[in-house]
Amino acid sequence: MPSYDFKCVSCGHRFELFTTISQRDKAVCPKCGGPVARVYEGKWSMGVKPVTGGCACGGNCAGCAGCGK
Ligand SMILES: [Zn+2]
Repeated sequence: MPSYDFKCVSCGHRFELFTTISQRDKAVCPKCGGPVARVYEGKWSMGVKPVTGGCACGGNCAGCAGCGK
């Protein structure tokens, strides 16, 4: 059973819930019974931009010594 992170919209309580996909959207806050929103955890570090094409020049390869183009 997958787990999901939620945050209560009314009281701000954050919790993790193991539930089915069909029950997921019916989740309510265990503290106050208020509506909750899903919390999406980023899998990448904040502030680090993904490099397109694997080249350090970011795709602008004219004059880039790193990618050899
Ligand atoms: Zn709440």
